[in-house]
Amino acid sequence: METTQHSFDNAPIGIFDSGLGGFTVAREIVAALPHESIVYAGDTARCPYGPRDQREVDAFVQQICSWLVARGVKLIVIACNTATAAGLAHAQRTMPVPVIGVVEPGARAATMTTLTRRVGVVATQGTIDSGAYERAINNIDAGIEVFSAPTQRFVEIAEQGLRGQDERFATYEELVARGFDSADYRALAEGYLAPFREKRVDTLVLGCTHFPLLAGLIGQAMGPGVQLISSATETARDVAEILRRRRAFAAPDHRPSYQFFTSGADCEEFARLGTLVLNVEADRIETVDFGELHLEELRAAKEAVVEKKVVIATNNAHKVSEITTALDFEGWHYSTLRDAGLVSNPVEDADNFEGNARIKARAAHELSGGLAALADDSGLVVDALGGDPGVFSSRYAGEDGNDAANNEKLLRELGDLPFDERTARFVCTLVFIDEDGSETVARGTIEGKIGFEEKGSGGFGYDPLFYPDFYEGRLTLAEVPQEDKNAISHRGNALRQLKELLGEK
Ligand code: IMP
Repeated sequence: METTQHSFDNAPIGIFDSGLGGFTVAREIVAALPHESIVYAGDTARCPYGPRDQREVDAFVQQICSWLVARGVKLIVIACNTATAAGLAHAQRTMPVPVIGVVEPGARAATMTTLTRRVGVVATQGTIDSGAYERAINNIDAGIEVFSAPTQRFVEIAEQGLRGQDERFATYEELVARGFDSADYRALAEGYLAPFREKRVDTLVLGCTHFPLLAGLIGQAMGPGVQLISSATETARDVAEILRRRRAFAAPDHRPSYQFFTSGADCEEFARLGTLVLNVEADRIETVDFGELHLEELRAAKEAVVEKKVVIATNNAHKVSEITTALDFEGWHYSTLRDAGLVSNPVEDADNFEGNARIKARAAHELSGGLAALADDSGLVVDALGGDPGVFSSRYAGEDGNDAANNEKLLRELGDLPFDERTARFVCTLVFIDEDGSETVARGTIEGKIGFEEKGSGGFGYDPLFYPDFYEGRLTLAEVPQEDKNAISHRGNALRQLKELLGEK
């Protein structure tokens, strides 16, 4: 029987944006999670982020996230597309709480919504130029055609409407319904959006946090057959899901507080707009300094960074995330073969792991026109079977075998051999080929024994049969959390060795 453990966390959710746009994200979070406290930070003094250097924006993201962490937030939402593109990954690596951006949730919803697999994206110039939505959508479904175009003036008219330059509205709903209903605006929307209709997209992503304000205007121009995806709504869903899984919702009787901070001088105006969009009373409004940025240091750091593009010769998302987390060298940019638009399927006919890893790395290096490339090859070596399945690990039970068939065959081959004689190890070899063609090879193993039946549901491949010596026969690799597996696994060990070797180069 499943038991529900009640545990609550009344700490606030931190949300930030370069200015006002993130209010739409905060609004959806408040609507979906009415017991949660919110700390909203708007960096209006340094807004807009769009035209700034990526590294500078990355530094702002670090600063504001640290500031939010110091205020005790349990999760951070970067409610700004530019900041997400420039600093999300870095913040996820350095902050002690989960950090999410707005691009991934919107992209994911679009892939699930489209029937014709033709998706449009409207956003600011900077977001479109970064290619972030296209990449995120195609990472999930490479078959979707993405059409994107900047719609810069939408930002201006959304801001103008929000600030009440033409007319003030008492509620957000009224503002959205009536604030943008003019012939000029309709003509502007028509001009921007006609190309998307011609391309027959059935889904349009509002890739800027200002755009939910214009949902009425945009929806009318696109017509009823097109689904609009608001990154704001989708991000709020993700926040709810993270809190649910972590059992970190605020208690049902918690009285939420809403705090607004801005780096700009016009604090009252900022809070008025926040209150209008979120539809809550502010408990605290304050102008705040997010800290000094030492621009000289930033410039020096930028010059010192060696920018390097590395192709990872796999499309396996699990391996990609392990590799990019482990090899977090400053200035390195990773892409998978698919991201780089490459199709590589070389014949892996070497009789050892290193040989096969080399074949994959060389192919990626050459296909990419000489970029640095990294490949891994791994498998299970069982002593009593003379080293089998070895390089045939993935196809032990035949070319179209699978994990279950492979495991079954392994158990059959070992029969009732006693546990102490079922010694085995996973082996991983990584081959890194630098731009100049030079090679670095790293190896990792993990020793253990093969059990008599499958245990556990984590991991993959032979994990449910493999008892690492580290756990003295008590647990299989499929029974330990991923983080614990990484700390002792063959791939984890090989990556740590590679990091050391490359760091010395
Ligand atoms: P490849 O390196 O992706 O070709 O992996 C080869 C095969 O080795 C996989 O299909 C699995 O059967 C096995 N294998 C590699 N690493 C692991 C692991 O961490 N756990 C379980 N099986 C693994």
